[in-house]
Amino acid sequence: MLRIPCPCCGPRDHDEFRYGGDASVPRPAPDDPDPEAWHAYVYRRQNPKGAHREYWQHVLGCRQWLVVERDTVSHRIGSVVMAREWQA
Ligand SMILES: [Zn+2]
Repeated sequence: MLRIPCPCCGPRDHDEFRYGGDASVPRPAPDDPDPEAWHAYVYRRQNPKGAHREYWQHVLGCRQWLVVERDTVSHRIGSVVMAREWQA
């Protein structure tokens, strides 16, 4: 069972969260007209083995967006921070 330690609510089952994607992909500027930059942002992923940073939203709790470091092999959770406080 995957449990995510929410900074607001404490450890909770992952069923309370919504996966939000790869947190390591930089988002282009809102007015960036380059379709290749947007294609890379939306579709290209590395699918790494090991530690990976991901967005998760605590939808059945505080509803905050988090950046969770999760090992994609063992599912061990490393750091968890509020997305609004995270610096890529
Ligand atoms: Zn929470």
